[in-house]
Amino acid sequence: MSQPDTRRGLLIILSSPSGAGKSTLAKRLMAWDQTLSFSVSATTRRPRPGEVDGSDYHFLSESAFKSMVRNGEMLEHAHVFGNFYGSPMGPVKAAIDRGCDVLFDIDWQGAQQIKTSALRDHVLSIFVLPPSIAELRRRLVSRGQDAPETIRKRMQKSWDEISHWDGYDYILVNDDLDATFEQLKTIVSAERLRQPQQPGLVGFVRGLQSEFEEDEQ
Ligand code: ADP
Ligand code: 5GP
Repeated sequence: MSQPDTRRGLLIILSSPSGAGKSTLAKRLMAWDQTLSFSVSATTRRPRPGEVDGSDYHFLSESAFKSMVRNGEMLEHAHVFGNFYGSPMGPVKAAIDRGCDVLFDIDWQGAQQIKTSALRDHVLSIFVLPPSIAELRRRLVSRGQDAPETIRKRMQKSWDEISHWDGYDYILVNDDLDATFEQLKTIVSAERLRQPQQPGLVGFVRGLQSEFEEDEQ
């Protein structure tokens, strides 16, 4: 059976303890490559100041969220920091079928579910570690978007998230942001060149073979 010319997009998963910098890295990656599609998660948490519904998250009521789960409309979902979060399936399927890579900013539970889903062969998972726990706390506080109690809860849960670091394909220690972003671009660029990600090459190599045979005669 011949392979399709269009590659199936990668599902690029970024996870980290809250505050390590994955949203910042995700935003940079989106700006670097406009063909990337961001998986806008659904959540029952309240919007932070400046967050836009439909762009940062789909902010849903608990009943609307649970109804999407019941109807099988979530690729994965999890309960994080007392709220529900999930990745709606429809936009992800549409994007990867078009050959576009999709970027996910999700926790380890979501990453595990996607890695065991039917789409597992197309997953690229990257875990972002902070350079130290003191710096993680400093970043959470300096982000200035969460109440002290929320920050305390996030710090308490950070080890739970970090303890799953070894289930990921790549690990980045986000000390210097520019350096980490360079590493992230390198990973994505290299993964796109993996053989299964380039089905169009089958035709290209056949062309080379014909040229080679003509050249030999
Ligand atoms: P996450 O999405 O992992 O919760 P954010 O991307 O929101 O984390 O980053 C938390 C805070 O740390 C933000 O204020 C961000 O600007 C800052 N930050 C991210 N990466 C770095 C870095 N390498 N050095 C210093 N500050 C950073
Ligand atoms: P925040 O409230 O800071 O935006 O996100 C809290 C945590 O939930 C982060 O670790 C983030 O990656 C995770 N998260 C966001 N969206 C999803 C999602 O759709 N699924 C899962 N499993 N986790 C998510």
